[in-house]
Amino acid sequence: MGPPSFRKVRSAKSFTLKQAGWKLLEGHRLKIGQTVYKFAKSREMDGTVKTVTIKRDPLGDLYVYFSCVVEPQPITRVMTGHSAGFDFGLTTYLTGSDGTMHHAPQPLQSSLKAIAQANRHLSQKKKGSCNRRQAQRHLDRVHKRVANQRQAFHWQLAHQLCAAYDSLTLETLNLQGMKALWGRKVSDLGFATFVETLHAVASKTGTLIQHIDTWFPSTKLCSACGWINQQITLRDRVWTCGDCGTTHQRNVNAAVNIFREGASSPGGIHVSQASACRGC
Ligand SMILES: [Zn+2]
Repeated sequence: MGPPSFRKVRSAKSFTLKQAGWKLLEGHRLKIGQTVYKFAKSREMDGTVKTVTIKRDPLGDLYVYFSCVVEPQPITRVMTGHSAGFDFGLTTYLTGSDGTMHHAPQPLQSSLKAIAQANRHLSQKKKGSCNRRQAQRHLDRVHKRVANQRQAFHWQLAHQLCAAYDSLTLETLNLQGMKALWGRKVSDLGFATFVETLHAVASKTGTLIQHIDTWFPSTKLCSACGWINQQITLRDRVWTCGDCGTTHQRNVNAAVNIFREGASSPGGIHVSQASACRGC
């Protein structure tokens, strides 16, 4: 046993102050103890502040979180009269049954290159060296930028959809299956996190979100006649129905099927209790 060691300041990740020990000052300033800190205010505060938490992320950036008590507000929603089904994809992030398309932002792709480059630089540095530590920090920084970009895209898209539609129907994601088919790119796009974000926004705006069964053959089914295309492969972006001869855009056809399946079982049959939510 060696001598007792002091707890490293670096190891502490966060601390929370309750009623005492802090004071909010004018002009985005916070007094903790005798020291006044300035912070960048990301959004207006509602209600009364109950606790203040300071967090530090692995990069050493500091964040201050104010948790507030807010009176519950009834959801006031202006109905748009629109509803749609959506199909997730790699080339087009989301395709709507009404033909709308939402693409993942381009910076995401370029940042992936930056990650690969930062990883390469890190691997070339000698272990335990100062340069290696610096390269590691740079890699963390790039990772964080990508995460921020993805998160911003998710929130923007979720708000856009919840404002435009009264109800949305999505597939229940089979992420393991998607990864087996498409590989690592699935994780880069963060479909599951997007669905979570969408539910969070929907609970505020009063938008209905339905999930249809994972095994519903949305891609194979002809939305015009109900024929099932057993031969369809991932490469087929466009296909023609062997029965009625309709030519389908793969994603739009799937989205139409998803929408119809959702509409045929409102709040019911194919929609499980846990996944159907009007505001979770
Ligand atoms: Zn057909």
